[in-house]
Amino acid sequence: SCENNLLTVESLSVTIRNSRKKLIHNLNFSIPQGEIFGLVGESGSGKSLTATVILGMLSKSLEVTSGSVTLGQSEITSLSERELRNIRGRDIAYLSQNYQSFFTPFIKVGQQFIEIIRCHTDMSRKEAKKVAIHWLNKVHLPAERVFNSFPDELSGGQLQRASIASAIMFRPKLIIADEPTTALDVLTGERILDLLSELKEELNCSILLISHDLKHIIKRTQTVGVMYGGQIVEIGKTSAVVANPIHPYTNLLLQSRLRLNKHIQHELPTMLGEPGLIAEEGCPFTKRCPSAMESCSNKVPMNSLGKHHSAACHLVNAEREERYVTR
Ligand code: SF4
Ligand code: MG
Repeated sequence: SCENNLLTVESLSVTIRNSRKKLIHNLNFSIPQGEIFGLVGESGSGKSLTATVILGMLSKSLEVTSGSVTLGQSEITSLSERELRNIRGRDIAYLSQNYQSFFTPFIKVGQQFIEIIRCHTDMSRKEAKKVAIHWLNKVHLPAERVFNSFPDELSGGQLQRASIASAIMFRPKLIIADEPTTALDVLTGERILDLLSELKEELNCSILLISHDLKHIIKRTQTVGVMYGGQIVEIGKTSAVVANPIHPYTNLLLQSRLRLNKHIQHELPTMLGEPGLIAEEGCPFTKRCPSAMESCSNKVPMNSLGKHHSAACHLVNAEREERYVTR
């Protein structure tokens, strides 16, 4: 793995304990220092579960059966609960879609900031307030007013900004943003993503941006991994994947995007079946794929289509041949 990768996920598999049911299967990706990596796929594809493993918060009913997650010098999957607690909230910030429940109701936002800060440092209340105001300003909120507000006095966008401020106060190396805009209107969501890009520069951190919506991923990320059925089925430089998508599932996600943009959502392709229909053997997309062939029910390896682009699909070879013939 590369020297300047902040996060490296290698051959990671997660199963339900005491069963052979794999929820994540042989996941490989890395995030360079200072880059935004997008993980995209339908809900249930394993994106949030991947975040859970990186945070060292896997439920006791699940088990890592192979692989490793490395953040800087730390091998997350081998740390004690105490060591993990030090990393969470400090080295890794986690932003969820449930920012509405991030703050406790009936306690002023500023009060909650001060408690979080004093829990991690030995600052006085006065010093803690200064830190809180600093970061509320950084996320472009009217800091004093928000500090003195109750959570229910803030809009959705303001609450999300405040939760971001509180998550990044200790200058994390990695921000995991799990569907950070799902509950917001489009414009507010775009501004939150602008803010994340800006904070990335400010903190010189990396971001794992998880989304079911490829349109966010395209504009904001350097690299993208497309997940289906617990596997990454296509991965590469975002520009390469978007210009030349190989996996039919990636194509489906891109088509959905274009059609949504043209407000003809009802014409979404239906031939591709139900989301979440996952084949147990071979390519997980077999049951929905219009190009499925006999060999797809056997193991389909990740094939490289150039230095910065690979896909786990037999069509990679067809694509290569086509290129060879036409040039
Ligand atoms: Fe379709 Fe086969 Fe490619 Fe899977 S491996 S996406 S079933 S063509
Ligand atoms: Mg999720």
